Formats: sequence, C-alpha cells, structure tokens
Amino acid sequence: MSQHNPNEISRPVPPFERQPQEVPGLASKMVPVPDHGEKSYKGSGRLAGRKALITGGDSGIGRATAIAYAREGADVAINYLPAEESDAKEVIALIEAEGRKAIAIPGDITSEDFCQQLVSEAVEKLGGLDILVNNAGRQQFCESIADLTTESFDKTFKTNVYAMFWITKAALPHLKSGSAIVNTSSVQAGKPSPMLLDYAQTKASIIAFTKGLAKQVAEKGIRVNAVAPGPYWTPLQSSGGQPQEKVMKFGEEAPFGRPGQPAEIAALYVLLASDEASFASGQVWCSDGGTGTF
Ligand code: NAD
Ligand code: MG
Repeated sequence: MSQHNPNEISRPVPPFERQPQEVPGLASKMVPVPDHGEKSYKGSGRLAGRKALITGGDSGIGRATAIAYAREGADVAINYLPAEESDAKEVIALIEAEGRKAIAIPGDITSEDFCQQLVSEAVEKLGGLDILVNNAGRQQFCESIADLTTESFDKTFKTNVYAMFWITKAALPHLKSGSAIVNTSSVQAGKPSPMLLDYAQTKASIIAFTKGLAKQVAEKGIRVNAVAPGPYWTPLQSSGGQPQEKVMKFGEEAPFGRPGQPAEIAALYVLLASDEASFASGQVWCSDGGTGTF
C-alpha cells in the first residue's frame, strides 16, 4: 500500500448520520468520533521543553494540536468552555500520559478580563510561554442577513477576533525570540459561504491580523502564521456550524470526497511552532482536501 494516497488509509466518508448538538458540541458525542491522533500521532522531540497555550484545546483541531504538541515534548495549557469539561479531561489525561505538564483553564474568552487571566494563569503554571495557538472559534450558520442579529454577529466577532487580539496582546510581553503564534483562519476567508457571513468576515480578519502582526513583531524574532482549514470533522459543524443536511454530506465537495480528521492538520501546527519553520512568518497555510482555496 502506498503511503502517499490519503484516501488509501480508511477514513470516514459521507453520508453521515444526523447528529444535532447544542453549542458548544462535544467531540465524544459525534458519530463517528473524530480522530485527533490519539492512537496515531508520533512525536520526535520537535517542541522539546516548549510551553504552549492552546484555546479550544478540548476538541477538534485544538485537541489534535494539544496531543501532537505534548508528544513533541511541550507542556500544554488548554482553554475551553466549562460545558466542555468532559472532552477537556480526556485531553488532559492524554498530555499527562506523555509525561508533560497539562494545565486546564476553563472560561469564556468573550470577556477581555478572562483573556488576561487566562494568559497570566498559563504563564504562571507553565513557568513561561513560547507558543500561542489561537484556535477557539464560533460558527453559527444563518441563511439571510435579515435574520443575522447584532447579538449573534457580535458574539462571533468577540470569540474569533476580539479574543485573539486580547489573548495575543496579553501573551506578547512573555514571548521571546524563537516564540511563535499560530492563528486559525479558514477557507471561508477566501471563499465565503452565503450562510456564514459573520464567520467568514472574522476568518478574513484573522489573516489581516496575522500578516500585520508578523511584520510588527519580526524584529523581536517572533513568528506569526495562520492555518486555514477546509472541512474538518469536528463538533463545531454539528452544533449549528452547518444545517444538519450539510453535516450529513460534510466534505463531499472536496476533491478527496470526505472531511479531514483533526489528526490530519496537527502537523501543520507543529511545524509552524517549531524552529524548523524559522523563516516562515506572516503566511496562511491551507489544508482543504485538494480544493486549493489559497
Ligand atoms: P471545535 O468545536 O472542536 O473547537 C472550537 C472550540 O472553540 C471549542 O472546543 C470551544 O472550546 C472553543 N470556544 C468557542 N467559543 C468559546 C468561548 N466563548 N470561550 C472559550 N472557548 C470557546 O471545532 P474546530 O473545528 O476544531 O474549531 C477550531 C478552529 O478551527 C475554529 O477557529 C474554527 O473556526 C476553525 N475551522 C474549523 C473548520 C472545520 O471544518 N471544522 C474549518 C475551518 C476553520
Ligand atoms: Mg469543544
């Protein structure tokens, strides 16, 4: 069997079951449960001794990143909403199983005060900070601008844009030369879906922030990049990110004919945080199953 064809390794393809969940959804309730690399990710010391804070580290892409970082030798703090405690506990156990420090900091990042507390607690408990992964996100579909409320628009911007600004601002004084920030954009930044008007704007905003900040902090030796995922099988989608009819066909339109599993994107977050990517900054790194969005 060739190692080069991503579809030769058996991964879930649509159709999927209807599986509505309240927001925030739990990875443990998904059918099939996503693959975050729990059994497959093998580290090779690429982040040995580093200290990372990952928002949304309980499930999906953030969880796959947390597992990979721990297996690469990093101590990891994760943030998530209190309602996600059961998913978060599984991640904490997986990090600890690698002999790494695992810090759980639940709380709502739509509050600036909490974002500041989150960074100070992470720095204090990890004993410093080298890597910040801004990954938490809110995606709630809405068919028409006429029905998109100011409240919902505001919550999407607070979660995806303001929190990234607040957390990054609080983290920067602790970062030093060789540190890295990895933000999470989306293919929606380049090809917005009509029902994700607010979300797509936030994801485009994250790219502008990434490119501008990369220039601002280059002289300090700090790198800033963004990952732009295509369709990934995570609870974000089944908890109101898409209508259930779309969840059932999720990933069908990608040339690979399936959604990505979170485990398939974690290595990008590892690379962008590691010294091996020491000349890469201010860039968007897309993983979209062959669509070629960027
Ligand atoms: P996910 O639901 O597993 O992760 C999102 C996380 O955001 C949640 O686990 C939650 O902890 C966190 N979060 C949301 N609101 C929060 C708040 N107010 N306070 C604190 N934490 C909050 O889904 P995911 O798909 O892994 O999402 C991770 C990132 O990937 C998001 O930024 C999302 O926009 C982005 N993304 C996902 C896809 C996809 O298809 N899944 C595609 C492109 C981009
Ligand atoms: Mg979650």
